[in-house]
Amino acid sequence: GPPPGCPPDVEQLGRATWTFLHTTAAYYPDKPTPTQRANMLMLLRSLPIVYPCTWCATDFGEEIEKSKPDVSSRVALSRWLCEQHNTVNEKLGKEKFDCAKTDERWKDGPADGSCD
Ligand code: FAD
Repeated sequence: GPPPGCPPDVEQLGRATWTFLHTTAAYYPDKPTPTQRANMLMLLRSLPIVYPCTWCATDFGEEIEKSKPDVSSRVALSRWLCEQHNTVNEKLGKEKFDCAKTDERWKDGPADGSCD
């Protein structure tokens, strides 16, 4: 790909955005307040409007209509997001991610401590 310092392409932007979204979900409260839920919902519903890859944004908007964001808890949100990411993976012909490994990937790191 292009060297660092160039504007991000769709792939770099996607990696950065997934990193932000999965990490944010990993630290979302177990028992969110109504305000926390509303804010998370607004963040997710803003993406189809503001995300600067237009076809990504349009498809994501259709997907979140089909499967409404579950902002009821950390676990529910992380799972919902994993499924959304897998929908995009499938569309792009990428491998599906095992959603049981979401915390290991985005919060705890592997048990061998290699991320510590
Ligand atoms: P990414 O898909 O960016 O994933 C990064 C890392 O997340 C992976 O290495 C893996 O460790 C982990 N991961 C993978 N799947 C999951 C999962 N299901 N749950 C948790 N963690 C996971 N690109 C397009 O070309 N067309 C599109 O229509 C499009 N739509 C997008 C819509 C959204 C909302 C976003 C955020 C991105 C979109 N992208 C789209 C970008 C695309 O999803 C990838 O980010 C990009 O292709 C780079 O892929 P990657 O292989 O580096 O890994």
